Amino acid sequence: MISIAEARALILAEARPLPPERRALTDSLGGVLAEPIAAPHHVPPFDNSAMDGFAVRAVDTAGAGPEHPVALIMRDTIPAGADSWADVGPGEAAKIMTGAALPPGADAVVEVEASEEVGGKVRLFREVVPGTSVRLAGEDVAAGDVVLQPGDPIGPAEIGILASLGFPEVLVCRRPRVAIISTGSELVEVDQPLRPGQIRNSNSYTLEAQCRQLGLEPDRLGIAPDDYEATRALVERGLAYDVLITSGGVSVGEFDFVKDVQDALGVERRLWGVAMKPGKPLAFGVREGCLVFGVPGNPVAAMVSFELFVRPALMRLMGHRRVLRPTHRAVLEEDVANRYGRVHVMRARAWREGDVWHASSTGPQGSGILRSMVKANGLVFIPDDVGVLRAGETADMVLLREEWLEP
Ligand code: AMP
Ligand code: MG
Repeated sequence: MISIAEARALILAEARPLPPERRALTDSLGGVLAEPIAAPHHVPPFDNSAMDGFAVRAVDTAGAGPEHPVALIMRDTIPAGADSWADVGPGEAAKIMTGAALPPGADAVVEVEASEEVGGKVRLFREVVPGTSVRLAGEDVAAGDVVLQPGDPIGPAEIGILASLGFPEVLVCRRPRVAIISTGSELVEVDQPLRPGQIRNSNSYTLEAQCRQLGLEPDRLGIAPDDYEATRALVERGLAYDVLITSGGVSVGEFDFVKDVQDALGVERRLWGVAMKPGKPLAFGVREGCLVFGVPGNPVAAMVSFELFVRPALMRLMGHRRVLRPTHRAVLEEDVANRYGRVHVMRARAWREGDVWHASSTGPQGSGILRSMVKANGLVFIPDDVGVLRAGETADMVLLREEWLEP
């Protein structure tokens, strides 16, 4: 058996970014850019007012104050979006709205709160200098600036910049197509009644959900009963995808056919068995551009295997350079024994006090106890050689849900 890090290295060695494709801007969210983006024009495109107020020549406000307003002649009113303006001459002011183009002659704006209109004049109670409350053309992005690079992940801010620069489509790495198969003659689908000896298929749904959190839309191909031919037929379909995830049937049971089927279909195995608990019997291989994951059937093992191995591989296919969650050191709240001789991936509730992370077990940690995941916002890695880690000692931890952080 190999370590988590070794297994991950073997897997990532097979995962290369998929070729780029053009996507509609809104659809590129969560993807990774595959082209550099140079600004075709300034943002903002023209000098404009940062306030509702009066566009003036700054020199005309010299000496103005709360007790000594200066009075200027009011000319145009310039709403946002207007495309023509009279010049602002000496002794003149133009009423201007936020975002409207600064008229020729003016070099500053006095906010409406420091003004008073009387007849055809405006009194200004404040002295300004050139540039006051003016947003200069190109102050956000100058024409020609390379604002985004290939490999940049696309989030809401990137979408906003691309919109402001006039990119209705962008080149992003293609999203992997993912197939999910559950194996087990005991499984029935979520909407079916349970007969004696049956349980409901949950893995297909957790695995699908974990893919969806990456912005992917996997296909659930269904349940393969523990039968060689049936498993083979479904796995063969799954091999047409970029990534195939099967759950269950990959251990040493008499009816575990997944590895035999993979072998028969030409999947080249890269690993089987990782020194961790849960999740030991992970099988990973490749066939003609398809990454083939056989994750164990126990529901927690399936989820943890996805988190530690499938997720980084999918992210690499999507073009991400950073595919691993950051690791923190966390102080354990209670003693945790590990006599398995494998890394114990403990589901934990994590929180922070000052700069120090703390983690507490979410309760019974069996590989089939899915409730241990329900309450978890972190995974803590208890090394294989410790015997017992005492309360107050530290271990590595990754956060699964940052937004759950509260003491
Ligand atoms: P296996 O890896 O096939 O030996 O399965 C290990 C355990 O996980 C067994 O108790 C199975 O019933 C259970 N299991 C396997 N697949 C699923 C699934 N899709 N949903 C829920 N439990 C499963
Ligand atoms: Mg099974």
